[in-house]
Amino acid sequence: MNVSPKLAIETDRGKARMAYKKILVAVDLGETSAGVIDKAHKLALGQGAQIHVLHAVEPLSITYGGDIPMDFSSIQDEIYEQARDQLSRLCAAKAIPESQRHLVVGRPENEIAATASDLNVDLIVVGSHARFGLALLLGSTADGVLHHAKCDVLAVRVAEAS
Ligand code: AMP
Repeated sequence: MNVSPKLAIETDRGKARMAYKKILVAVDLGETSAGVIDKAHKLALGQGAQIHVLHAVEPLSITYGGDIPMDFSSIQDEIYEQARDQLSRLCAAKAIPESQRHLVVGRPENEIAATASDLNVDLIVVGSHARFGLALLLGSTADGVLHHAKCDVLAVRVAEAS
C-alpha cells in the first residue's frame, strides 16, 4: 500500500501514528468559528504541529459585480477591517501569533488551497454544516477545498445555533 509522503509516520509505544506538522484552519468568522479553531488547536497541540488561521474576505465585486454599477471600495475596506478585528480576537484567545494569521481577499476555496500550498501545510481544517435540499446541489466551501487541496482535509461538523 502506498502511504502519502506528506505524512510523517512516528512510532509511539509500538503503535504507528501519523503526525501533522503544519495545520491551516479556515474560518468564515461566523458563530461556529471559535469551535472550529478550538478543535484544530487541540489537534495541533496533540500533534506538536504549528497552526495557521485564515479568513478570506470575499470581494463584493464578485458577489454583486456587474449587477449593481457601484463603487464598493469603502464598504470593502470596512468589511476588511471588521474581519481583521474578528480574526485577531479569535486567534488571540488561543495565543496564535500574528505571523500565523492570514487575512486575504478572494474566493474562500481558492484562497484556502493557495495559502495551504504557499505555507506547505499538511492538513487543512474547515467547518462543515449539515446540508439539505438545494444547498446540497449548490455545494459547499468544504467540498470546494477538498477539490482544490493537495493535502489532507478535515471537515469538522458544526451546528448553527437555532
Ligand atoms: P460553508 O460551506 O460556506 O458553509 O463554509 C464551510 C466552512 O468553509 C467554514 O466553516 C470555514 O471553515 C470555511 N469557509 C467558508 N467561508 C470562508 C471564508 N470566507 N474564509 C475562510 N474560510 C471559509
